[in-house]
Amino acid sequence: MLLPGLSLALPGDRLPICTSQLGGTSALRCLSTVRPLAPQALRQLQRSRQACNSTLTKEFASVSDEEASSQSSDSSSSTANHSNGHQATADIDWDSLGFGIDNMAPMMYQATFTPEQGWSGQLQPYGPLQLHPSAQVLNYGQSVFEGMKAQRTPAGNIVLFRPDENAARMMAGAERLSMPPPPPEVFLEAVVSTVRANSHYVPPQGKGSLYIRPLLLGTGPILGLGPAPSYTLVVYAAAVGAYFKGGQLTPINLIVEERFHRAAPRGMGGTKAAGNYSPGLVTQLAAKQSGYADVLYLDAKTDSLVEEVSSCNIFVVKGNTIKTPPLQGTILPGVTRKSVIQLATQLGYDVQETPVSITEAMAADEIFTTGTAVVVSAVGSLTYQGEKRQFGEEGQPTKVALQIYESLTALQQLKTEDPFGWVVPVV
Ligand SMILES: *Cc1c(COP(=O)(O)O)cnc(C)c1O
Repeated sequence: MLLPGLSLALPGDRLPICTSQLGGTSALRCLSTVRPLAPQALRQLQRSRQACNSTLTKEFASVSDEEASSQSSDSSSSTANHSNGHQATADIDWDSLGFGIDNMAPMMYQATFTPEQGWSGQLQPYGPLQLHPSAQVLNYGQSVFEGMKAQRTPAGNIVLFRPDENAARMMAGAERLSMPPPPPEVFLEAVVSTVRANSHYVPPQGKGSLYIRPLLLGTGPILGLGPAPSYTLVVYAAAVGAYFKGGQLTPINLIVEERFHRAAPRGMGGTKAAGNYSPGLVTQLAAKQSGYADVLYLDAKTDSLVEEVSSCNIFVVKGNTIKTPPLQGTILPGVTRKSVIQLATQLGYDVQETPVSITEAMAADEIFTTGTAVVVSAVGSLTYQGEKRQFGEEGQPTKVALQIYESLTALQQLKTEDPFGWVVPVV
């Protein structure tokens, strides 16, 4: 067998979710119950959430919620007992969460694809993957990832934000890299199972989130250049806080990268292919050493249009107009970007997807970046060709960025109504 699961198998009666083959599971029934209703009134959403929860409560009675799992002595209520030394909520200092691997969730999901058998997967303890040195991904880089967050609502439910968008984007990336696209139900099953199994790692409301990292890897062995004969979908997760050091609302200083481009026309910049990211490290590290949080890339064709930051999209504000560069294959189609476009329009801004020159950006009223990990981050300064442009007051988030951050996070955590039907309860 190519990728044997870890021998640390869980006792069957402790594994509440998904030992079955993938397919029409209750997780998906739950999602499909909720999603069509979501664009309507919150009351209706809440009713369906209750229905969803009662289904879950019945079926996954042993999946702990935060309270239950913090009593780690009650072994039937906590999956944390199976972890590699990780403990339940009690051991996490929710007030000092950073963005990293310190609070890795104890369970991960692993599915395998072969042309003969299709997809099949299960939950297992977080731990190393076993790979042949001839695994395609290690030699030729068949690898795409996703980034998502599970958050807690004031009522204590756990919600995902537009997970269908991530499923679709992983499929698109898989196609670009000649990998079998995991069907949305396979992807969602993996993500929802991971969240439920690690529900005690979802921080209390407002303290952070469970960052979810799906990976699709060409893990089958190969020597000559070609696609892998088999594939692995892995979903792991970690409890995280703010992405940039300095905290969520501290504006970030950006510098325009003038040596390298991130993506080229007709390349793969529009996918979350792993190979898109390490080439940026050399400039990103240099920028960090000079006190910048990250770099802003220009387009490869004219070297004059802003594209995006290493891992987030960019918006440029002037008066009532908010511009963001259009998706033409070189920019990552962010789910947050797409949502902010709609949200800002609803808030009354004139939002345009249109090319933005670096000159225009330097002359803007304010700039902010968006992404699942960064959420919405105000840009405090932008440096280009030695000139530093300051936005807003030192250390203070700029006005529009703050407004959009607050509306988006309130909606994502169901602190306000979700008129778009974007928020999907899973617990
Ligand atoms: C993931 C990512 C984004 C943001 O996408 P979201 O779906 O909003 O998280 C933006 N740019 C790049 C390069 C990314 O990798």
